[in-house]
Amino acid sequence: MFDILTDSFTNAIKKIRFNDDDKALTKALDELKKSLLRADVNHKVVKDLIFKVQIETKKNGIGKDQFLEALRNALYELLEIGGNRGFVFASKPPTVILMTGLQGSGKTTTTAKLANYLKNKQKKVMVVAADLQRLAAVEQLRQLTQQVGVELYEDESTKNPVEVVTAALKKANSGIYDVVLIDTAGRLAIDNELMDELEAVKYAANPSEIFYVADSMTGQDAIKTATAFKEKIGIDGVILSKYDGDSKGGIALGLSSQVQVPLRFIGSGEKIEDLEVFLPERVVNRLMGFGDIEGLAERTSSVIDEKQAKKFTSKIKKGEFNFNDFLEQMESMKKMGSMKSLMGMIPGMGNMSKALKDFDLENSSELKNIKAMVSSMTMKERENPDLLNNSRKGRIAKGCGLEIVEINRMIKQFKNAGKMAKRFSGKNGMKDLQAMMG
Ligand code: GDP
Repeated sequence: MFDILTDSFTNAIKKIRFNDDDKALTKALDELKKSLLRADVNHKVVKDLIFKVQIETKKNGIGKDQFLEALRNALYELLEIGGNRGFVFASKPPTVILMTGLQGSGKTTTTAKLANYLKNKQKKVMVVAADLQRLAAVEQLRQLTQQVGVELYEDESTKNPVEVVTAALKKANSGIYDVVLIDTAGRLAIDNELMDELEAVKYAANPSEIFYVADSMTGQDAIKTATAFKEKIGIDGVILSKYDGDSKGGIALGLSSQVQVPLRFIGSGEKIEDLEVFLPERVVNRLMGFGDIEGLAERTSSVIDEKQAKKFTSKIKKGEFNFNDFLEQMESMKKMGSMKSLMGMIPGMGNMSKALKDFDLENSSELKNIKAMVSSMTMKERENPDLLNNSRKGRIAKGCGLEIVEINRMIKQFKNAGKMAKRFSGKNGMKDLQAMMG
């Protein structure tokens, strides 16, 4: 996420040469402007941003540091229009969220992603199937909520969403639910019938917040429809879906200022885990190339079981990390979402994520081979890689359809990785690592 924007920023910054003069500032601003327009940020938003950066840099004395500071402040101000919010819980549970959007925008998928995000935060979630217009919407939600492992409230005996919502909330008010997510009907375009239905559902649900799911791929149309929804029924936040398919990404910069509501989440893929909270401060850090350590920690802590992590660390220290542990770790990594989006969160690694564009953890052939190899091992062999003599390796190679040289190479790699991990997890681990890196 934000690869193109981060690239544009870092490139513009690299080109800047300040010699304390006005000309240098004009050139720097020009670079910045070009890079923003190239990323498809709305031209009015760009104009305002450039103006702010210019005024503040001049005020504080022209220089690279002052320029970067002014840019950081202007970006932050731009992104936090409407509040710096993420997910906000109501003072008294359940927090009721109405999910709205046009048909095909990704509303149903996003509802499931949000349910998953909240479940990972140990919240008890109920999803309500109130999109009774689109054929198969209820079935889609049934599958998605099953996959996430949250409750779905549905009633296919009626076509009236108000009835469904009223009954669902009656159940939710029993006290055990923290959040109720209501998936509402969409249309291909905004029409009065849709707005009347949403009005009625809104009245029945009395939501804490209304989210509008906007498809990034529709560009400035996403801004227009979000604005129309805001005027007709009122929205408290926008979730930008399909951000992975929008190669330029500038829409995320202009949205809050153009619609005058905060951008709250970004959907960056088709998988349930592909949802990121949009917090201005973190995003600014990422754009300026400082990474997003908090975001990374949040992603990891939501999927890594602390007990499991401790078990692995202790095994590594004792040199007992085996193939079973390896498989377990691979599964946890899969849950964290794509490697690429994680890399972007590490300071200084933003550019690396481009190189990893095609690296898909689940479909990587190397990992598939390792998994196939481990699956052909007996339990004893998985627990004790030292048992693997030539005849056992031959049997494993046959079992998984790989050449014995490949088996040897993978086992060697695994053993080396184990040795390294053991070394760096010891008392002098950091020193050793620093020494190795020069
Ligand atoms: P709805 O009609 O608004 O409920 O739309 P759906 O939730 O059914 O989504 C429409 C299509 O968009 C589906 O194929 C989803 O898998 C896809 N989709 C949703 N969000 C994302 C996203 O963030 N990235 C990508 N690549 N696809 C998405």
